[in-house]
Amino acid sequence: MKITDIEVIHLRVPAPGEVCEWGEDAIIVRVHTDEGITGIGESDSSPMVIKALIETPNSNLYCYGLKELLIGENPLEIARLWQKMYWSSNYVGRRGAGIHAISAIDIALWDIAAKYYNVPLHTLLGGKFRDRIRAYGTFIPADRPEDNREIALKLVEKGFKSLKFGGGVLGDDPDTDYQIVKHVREAIGYEIELQIDLATKWGTAGHALRMCKRLEEFDLNWIEEPVLADDIKGYTKLAAQATQKIAGGEALTTRYEFKDFLERFDPDIVQPDITRCGGITEMRKIYDMAQLNGVQLIPHGFSTGILLAASVHFLASCEHGTLMEYSESTSPLVNDNGLVINPIAFHEGFLEVPDRPGLGIELNDEFIKEFQVN
Ligand SMILES: [Mg+2]
Repeated sequence: MKITDIEVIHLRVPAPGEVCEWGEDAIIVRVHTDEGITGIGESDSSPMVIKALIETPNSNLYCYGLKELLIGENPLEIARLWQKMYWSSNYVGRRGAGIHAISAIDIALWDIAAKYYNVPLHTLLGGKFRDRIRAYGTFIPADRPEDNREIALKLVEKGFKSLKFGGGVLGDDPDTDYQIVKHVREAIGYEIELQIDLATKWGTAGHALRMCKRLEEFDLNWIEEPVLADDIKGYTKLAAQATQKIAGGEALTTRYEFKDFLERFDPDIVQPDITRCGGITEMRKIYDMAQLNGVQLIPHGFSTGILLAASVHFLASCEHGTLMEYSESTSPLVNDNGLVINPIAFHEGFLEVPDRPGLGIELNDEFIKEFQVN
């Protein structure tokens, strides 16, 4: 089997007349082969940058576009192809967007391989530990603290036993932060797991520690990205002194950055995004390192049903892969909102692990036509 083409599809919403909350764009790839099997992948990154990294013709030994490297190759040789892409793009890649682009293609190669062997992806990854995975619902908080009561309650009614909020105004003002957490906790009670995501907006460890202390009464399960992912001392201080679990890592790529984060930052939870960290191939290495460091891996996931399917197969194949993020964005691109024909099913707070071959999903071509940027 040989790779014959790599299609890079840039999707953008809102279409005229529609509003959406995050999930405003997506970059997906379709890797085609001469045996008629097509693999699907995506990267939750900057679409135009990823498109360029895949499609650009090579300008020197270490500045290859990924597509040129893969045409004519056997898509089943995933580990070798990962290394070929990494090595041959290392002036423009190695970290950041270069790895985001590799992630999209890596997911598509795993999809091809599992379809070729006619097994669900979790079988190819070693077998599934479970048939369903608990999901936590993520929402962006409303500006007025009291308005978040209803948002959170609706998610509980939908079946979630675990919730997170972050983005929006969270992190901008200590009193507003306190009030939002208070209103949400009062509304949902203490039986529902609750975590918050600062998206680095607490800025410094000193301020973050003060806030962690102030929020102790609300029994938060974890505090995510209190400070930037380069702040080693900040993370280690927080991990040592905060009573809540400290989480982070969605912005990191490759086993090299995660090794540093896991060994030196001392987090309780690590959150690689499968469409950014280096794909399924690299995610497996990061999982093993997390285990060795006594850290739980809970993937970041706030994009399309492709990301969700790849993450669910991966988690199913991990002994401790028991929790997945589930975006509550209203974007038509996200989860089961239209792009994927047979998305991962959400039922009573759980995501069902599919047993169809490959990722087990197909894309809706009509939907792609409607939202594709040409
Ligand atoms: Mg986050």
